[in-house]
Amino acid sequence: MGILPGDAAHFDVTVPVVIIGAGACGCTAALAAHERGAEVMILERDDKPRGNTSLSGGQIPAAGTKLQKAAGVEDTAEILADDLIRKAHGENDADMSRHIAKGSAKTIDWLIDNHNMPLSCITDFIYPGHSRPHMHASPSRFGAELLSVFLEAVANAGIDIATSAHVTGLYADDDGRIRGVRITRPDGKTEVVGCGALILACNGYGGNKEMLRKYIPEIVDAHYHGHEGNKGDAVKWGVALGASVKDMGSFQGHGAVTTPHNIHLGWPAITEGGYQVNTEGRRFSNENAGYSEQALNVVRQTGHVAWTIFDERCQVIALQMHSHVEATENGAIKTCASVNAVAQMIGCPADALARTVREVEDAARGNRDDAFGRDFTGHPPLEPPYKVAKIQGALFHTQGGLEVDKTARVLREDGTPFPNLFAGGGAARGLSGPADWGYLSGSGLLMAINLGRLAGEAAAELVKAKVSV
Ligand SMILES: Cc1cc2nc3c(=O)[nH]c(=O)nc-3n(C[C@H](O)[C@H](O)[C@H](O)COP(=O)(O)OP(=O)(O)OC[C@H]3O[C@@H](n4cnc5c(N)ncnc54)[C@H](O)[C@@H]3O)c2cc1C
Repeated sequence: MGILPGDAAHFDVTVPVVIIGAGACGCTAALAAHERGAEVMILERDDKPRGNTSLSGGQIPAAGTKLQKAAGVEDTAEILADDLIRKAHGENDADMSRHIAKGSAKTIDWLIDNHNMPLSCITDFIYPGHSRPHMHASPSRFGAELLSVFLEAVANAGIDIATSAHVTGLYADDDGRIRGVRITRPDGKTEVVGCGALILACNGYGGNKEMLRKYIPEIVDAHYHGHEGNKGDAVKWGVALGASVKDMGSFQGHGAVTTPHNIHLGWPAITEGGYQVNTEGRRFSNENAGYSEQALNVVRQTGHVAWTIFDERCQVIALQMHSHVEATENGAIKTCASVNAVAQMIGCPADALARTVREVEDAARGNRDDAFGRDFTGHPPLEPPYKVAKIQGALFHTQGGLEVDKTARVLREDGTPFPNLFAGGGAARGLSGPADWGYLSGSGLLMAINLGRLAGEAAAELVKAKVSV
């Protein structure tokens, strides 16, 4: 794994635009580059693509799409950009947030109009931090389906995906121009492929403990809920070439992954009025601030676990999320007739839990302020029987990565772009600022498809310009 001298390989095959990774970013980049007339090839390490895109909730934010307009949703790029910047407490790249938000409707409309992607606008649920219904998803609202519609679009366009093609090295000149890549096959044999431009769409470093220890030590021992193939290759190659990396401590966590089932609850279990208690039967945070920052709040509790308590009303809404259905079907959610039964299940003091329940009920009725600053009004107090799930905090994916410009070109530490290297999705710096609290729901796929489109378009223009010189 590393950077090899550009003149060290003889490339039998050269493809103008090579893309590493067949997730949402790689597929979008491939469609965009292909549409602009460039020959493209995607290289994917797995025998069947199953990266984070397929594990995700499959929901993509955008603002001002045709679907939103048809549904009567008034949304603008400014509103989405403001949501992204607000969630990151103004500590993300505001300029990039506006740029991505501005292109977001174009990307969704294009995927639907030109590639028949069966997306719809989600109007029945709004995630924390979204001031409009920004989300778009395929019918089942499930990442595996989303990835399959991307792969279908790629196949329909006649774009090749080489699977079981683990890229283990880049051939680069001294000036950082990428000449090609080395692929290692499952039997250990290697192949080399030359390229005119390279797009890194191989996600972040959530599956690399060494990198997590270095960049995000507090999450290293938490459950990792993403694809194990996210080994940080893009960042490693970039750093070796002298690329700028930013916000490396940033990540999307999730504060309600059931244990031992390892299936995450739908967040409406919280937003609709549910809450979390620890082994002492006490709440410990404002659960509604966001599911990402809730991960470390849970990790910091005794035994690194907590319990999510909600009711049938919350359950019905949370069941719109595929993973919540799975959690229910796998028995991760128990039903308890009374507060005492919940305390028994948790093994916590019944009086402490009863006090917690009373306090939340009072807050929901507007009779007291919540100690953690959460606004419980707007939803009725929970009604028994209670739904209870034992949960852990988890890492979903990393948000730090390679710094890119507005055409997704990777930047050197001095701010100049590499000649023909692009990055998008989890390989690139996200819009979440420096830590766990800045992740706006959907930001992952937002950066995957929008930087993917921009990278594909720019890479195609680059290789076409070279041919016509
Ligand atoms: C459980 C979960 C739920 C999520 N829910 C949402 C959501 O609802 N909305 C949202 O916006 N985001 C969500 N995310 C985040 C989102 O999934 C990611 O941000 C997004 O899928 C990133 O897309 P990508 O194309 O960059 O990466 P991926 O989809 O992970 O694709 C990267 C591909 O690169 C391949 N690869 C890696 N290294 C190499 C190599 N060296 N050679 C060849 N191939 C390689 C991998 O095998 C993989 O197929 C979720 C993430 C998780 C884990």
